[in-house]
Amino acid sequence: MRSLGSVKTWLAEQLLDRRPVISCLLFSAGAISLLMVFVGLQTYALLDPRALTFYHPTALVAGQAFLVAVILGLGLVAHYCWGKRKTEVACNWLPVLTVTPTLVVLMGLAVAHGLKDTPISLAVLTAIMLGRALFDFRVLAPSLMIGAGMVLAHEVLVRLGMMSYAPLLIKPVFSGGELAWWWQIWCRVVLDFCLVSFLGMVLFLFATLGQRRRELETLVRTDMLTGLANRRTFMTQLEIESHRHARSKRPFSLVMCDVDHFKKINDTWGHPAGDAVLVALGRILKSTTREQIDTAARIGGEEFAVLLPETGLEQAQRVAQLMSSGVRAQVFSFDGQQFSVTQSVGVAQTNDGDGDAAMRLADDNLYIAKRQGRDRIVASIVQAAGQADSQVACSLK
Ligand code: GH3
Ligand code: MG
Ligand code: MG
Repeated sequence: MRSLGSVKTWLAEQLLDRRPVISCLLFSAGAISLLMVFVGLQTYALLDPRALTFYHPTALVAGQAFLVAVILGLGLVAHYCWGKRKTEVACNWLPVLTVTPTLVVLMGLAVAHGLKDTPISLAVLTAIMLGRALFDFRVLAPSLMIGAGMVLAHEVLVRLGMMSYAPLLIKPVFSGGELAWWWQIWCRVVLDFCLVSFLGMVLFLFATLGQRRRELETLVRTDMLTGLANRRTFMTQLEIESHRHARSKRPFSLVMCDVDHFKKINDTWGHPAGDAVLVALGRILKSTTREQIDTAARIGGEEFAVLLPETGLEQAQRVAQLMSSGVRAQVFSFDGQQFSVTQSVGVAQTNDGDGDAAMRLADDNLYIAKRQGRDRIVASIVQAAGQADSQVACSLK
């Protein structure tokens, strides 16, 4: 048996997928239980002569027949959908056919009981909410138009004296003073059922929305191919680190890596091979940096950057060496042949917390490493204005 948590996850997935068959199945299940509350109450009223005195008996029987017919229709829809639940049938007509009778019968009940005096409007809202959660607005539109027409026609006919207010009832539910015993029970049952369903749905929708928002936030922050942070997250972290430096005054370093002759890898082994190299590089960068402290990011096609908070140049160089030797040691196999790659690295340490200057210097150093023959690390400290850079070049060959 599914646990409550997995049912919740499944429901959330269905809300997102919106497969018509499953949505119709879920809507039918919800609507049948909601309508059964009214069938139960009306059956009781038909059986208990004391409760029956509140109703026009023929109107009650007609209303009951209408309700039962809609429930049977929904039962047929549910049966059909259950049979098709694993198939991909395109049934554009089915959602409208499921939602419209439900909402129309509920609005009819609301009008019949007197629009302003009973909690049926909450039942209507519950059904609309369920319908909107499972379907597009287009599906709801016909029933909302019919419902609005019914309400309007009822108002006009009542004002013209051609129809009585609350036509199902002998006398209105509430006309000052205490509610009669039957209406106390009736209101309690309908109100409690609708409130619980409505609240359950609202809480569920908000929980689902919250989860989706968190997933979207992760997507926005992450590079899809490597799972590392993306450029935007990296720049945000760099800014945060610059602000932190203003208080701590501790230096931080940046490492920028670029795969050597990556275009050749794509050209020789194909784009998927290039992607596999990038994924492996991402893994190496992740494994050589401190979790929760450093930020390793893919900031361009085959360019990576790592932010090392509270780290001096020497330590940053060591990290860069670990990365480069990890990259060089990685052997890739494609089409039965093996190859490996190298990367050029620019490292920069900042003392004044200027993240942009550190980025520029790391980039310049990377460019120098490329010019000097690739597969090497060039590192230096961001100098105050007027002071000359002193670069440290590390060839790893
Ligand atoms: P250098 O040693 O000077 O860095 O040369 P390079 O070939 O590595 O650099 P260049 O900028 O000439 O080429 C980078 C290539 O990276 C070009 C582009 O097609 C490829 N690339 C960019 N993003 C992706 C990606 O997501 N997947 C794959 N497979 N290739 C990518
Ligand atoms: Mg590049
Ligand atoms: Mg490159």
